[in-house]
This record gives sequence, structure tokens and C-alpha cells, in this order.
Amino acid sequence: MLDVQKIRKDFPILNRTVNGKPLIYFDNAATSQTPQQVIDVIVDYYSNYNANIHRGVHSLSQEATDAYEQARLKIQKHFNAKHAHEIIYTAGTTHSINLVANGFSSLLKKGDEIIVSALEHHSNIVPWQMLCERTGAVLKVIPMNEDGELVMSAYDALLNENTKLVFVNHISNALGTINPIEYIIEKAHAVGAAVLVDGAQSCPHLKPDVQALDVDFYVCSAHKICGPTGVGMLYGKEAWLNKLPPYQGGGEMIAEVTFEKTTYADLPHKFEAGTPNIAGGIAFGAALDYMNGIGFENIATYENELLAYGTEQLLKIEGLKIYGTAKEKTSVISFNVANIHPYDIGTILDKMGIAVRTGHHCAQPIMDFYKIPGTIRASFMFYNTKEEIDAFIIALKKAIMMLS
Ligand SMILES: *Cc1c(COP(=O)(O)O)cnc(C)c1O
Repeated sequence: MLDVQKIRKDFPILNRTVNGKPLIYFDNAATSQTPQQVIDVIVDYYSNYNANIHRGVHSLSQEATDAYEQARLKIQKHFNAKHAHEIIYTAGTTHSINLVANGFSSLLKKGDEIIVSALEHHSNIVPWQMLCERTGAVLKVIPMNEDGELVMSAYDALLNENTKLVFVNHISNALGTINPIEYIIEKAHAVGAAVLVDGAQSCPHLKPDVQALDVDFYVCSAHKICGPTGVGMLYGKEAWLNKLPPYQGGGEMIAEVTFEKTTYADLPHKFEAGTPNIAGGIAFGAALDYMNGIGFENIATYENELLAYGTEQLLKIEGLKIYGTAKEKTSVISFNVANIHPYDIGTILDKMGIAVRTGHHCAQPIMDFYKIPGTIRASFMFYNTKEEIDAFIIALKKAIMMLS
């Protein structure tokens, strides 16, 4: 069981008011809040051992390097990667995806096929379009149905010997759908294609096991799992990471440099050019510690309760339609009310201290599918409460009254 009132004390921001009202933060799918334990780690780094890593012989540099590499081990353990050097620190999900997409430029040829899903975030569409432009590969899309689920029979039909890569998010940020990635990975491997899973939305809610999934690449951002912005990770199977060329040139990623030729450093450093976000990496590890301390099973159970309660309460409102009614989904509710513009509702909710997201959620193709400009999205984390949902429903009804 999860003690929400105790947990809420860990998050200083939850004490603040917005427009004179207590903050109700329901924009967790955009970024999560940061507990004091993680904030303390960042403050401790800059207060006590800020130094550049992997280079210095001096003590501060050693301490910083140790903490940064310890955090990499925590990430490895959390995702159950076989080797620590299969974990590459990046600036986040978008950076991780671009790193892989760029690497595949030299591995693809004209006529090769890449499959993405209709449920993707823009950051998982645009890099592949750019890759197709560079290589002459063709982009195919797994369609979705009215419930916001991917149509697996259509996926089966897309796969063939030209398929080289499949890219899919584990959980859709716009609708909360949990995609059947086990099936997707197995089928892709059967035709010899590699799979990259975007875990930006899954990592806050569940604990992926990259070896059990047998996934080739898995990516996420720390800021959606109670960590800081500007840091994330790329997991890649060792064999794939060895095959991909480096993404950026610079310090840290080289073994030897002359003007004639540079040889690259071993994994993971080959992909980690320049001074990284050191405090961010260390805090990423602390964020995983924090979430594991609460326990992902407890988190899932509690968030499912919030999802069920929120869905039930929202559906009582006349004219309200929820988008994304997949059987398997996480605590994201995307909805519209009659023909009121989502932005107008979002603005009034903010006046009442409630943070929700409105718009296309970086997933315009999904909005096109439903023929709507956008939705209002309420997304819950384990520190939210049923009482907050009640206050949100009252505020929403007020907003609807004002706007109709
Ligand atoms: C947030 C998100 C991204 C982008 O993450 P960044 O941290 O902005 O790079 C990509 N995919 C999904 C599913 C997301 O939710």
C-alpha cells in the first residue's frame, strides 16, 4: 500500500498555490514533479563535488566520476540490461531517438522499410522521416482504431523481408494506450528487423525488463520519472551499439586523435561526446531509487484506481467524450466537452489552480484520426489524489457553465 499523504510531503512544489488556489498538477505526462530527495542530490553535487568527469586525477573529479558511473549502474539494474556499457546517457528521449536514427543512415538503403505506429509522438515520427529522406527508405504506419489501439493484423501485413526497423512507443502520451510491444518485437525479429521502443510514457508507470523483452533499443527521459530535465538514456543491445557509428564528435568519445585519423572510444563513451549533464545523470539514478522505494507495483495499483475513478467521474458530465478507450491503458485521460475548445477550458482550469495539458500533445496524426484540433489531457501520477480529482471535476463543471 502506498501512503499518498506521506509521499506528497516529498514534493515541495505540491505546497504552492497557483492563482490563489492550491496547485493541482495533472500534467504529469508532459513532465513529472521532483521530490526533495532528488533535488538534494543536485544541490549536493553543485555544493560539494562539482567537477568534470573521466579526466581529472584530482579528488573532486574522481568523486564526480564515481557518482556518475554509479548512477549508470542503477539505470542498468533498473532496466535489467546485461552490461552497464549498453546504457548511453543522452539529453532525453528525443536525443536518444535521433542518435539511433542518425546511426541507421549508414545501415539502410533505398527500398528498405521502416515501420512506425499511428500513435507516435512527433519526436518518434520526424527523425524517421528525415532518415527516409537521407536513405531512400520508405516509412510505413501501423494504423489505429477508434479505441486508440494499434491494429495488429495490419502490422502483420506490413512486415516483410524489406522491413529493417520498427519504432513504437510503449505507451501513447496522448491517449495512454499500452501497446503490445512483446508481440511487436517478436514479429519484427521474425523478419530480421530491429525494434526501438520509446519508453518515455511507460517508465513512470512500470519497470521494463529489456532482456525479457528482447528489445534492441529502449529509450526514456529522466524528467518524466521524477528526475531532472535534460537527461535520459538509450539502452541498446551491445551488438547494435557496436554496429552504429557515433552520433557526435568531440571530447570523451575518442580513443586516439591525429589529423589523419581518429579512433573511437569503447562503449558507452563512443556515444557520449563532450561534457555531459553530470548532476542530471546522478539525479536520474536518485530518481530511480526514489521510485523503486515506492515500488512500481504499488504505483500501478494506485494509479489504476485514480484512472478508474477519474474516468467514472468525467463520464458523468454531459457531452464529454474520452479519446483513448483501450483495454490496456495508463493514467492518462484525453477528452473534449461538446464543441468547447480545449484551450478555453484549460485556461479557466488554470485560473482555479489546475494544470492540465491542452492541444495536440505532439501527436497531431492522432488528432487528425479523430478529426479534432486537440484534447484536454489530465494525466495522474502516484502523488495525485481522489480529492484532487473531485476538485478538478467541480472546476471543470464551472468552466463548462461559463463557456456554454
Ligand atoms: C515526452 C515524450 C517524448 C519526448 O521526450 P523528451 O524528454 O521531450 O525528449 C517522446 N515520446 C513520448 C511518448 C513522450 O511522452
